[in-house]
Amino acid sequence: MKLNADKYERNVILLCPVCGNTDMEHFEDSEIVRCIGCGKEMNEDELIQENGVSLDSHLDEIKEELTKDIGKQFGEMLKDAFKGSKNIRIK
Ligand SMILES: [Zn+2]
Repeated sequence: MKLNADKYERNVILLCPVCGNTDMEHFEDSEIVRCIGCGKEMNEDELIQENGVSLDSHLDEIKEELTKDIGKQFGEMLKDAFKGSKNIRIK
């Protein structure tokens, strides 16, 4: 079963927990990001935690799509598996 992983990628926008700005400055070789709006510095983990709710909703969306696609592909696999079943005789 092949799934196109790119399809499930999301651009998650992280908001500054202080001012709600979405423009973040990333420092090279460090996990620290700085909000361009208010200058608050935090590490990426903190920022992601502050944005936890929106990340969860993205995950739910992806899960739903995955479930749908897997169902579809499974149906097709079953069809393939039963191709040629006309040669099977039940005695
Ligand atoms: Zn800010």
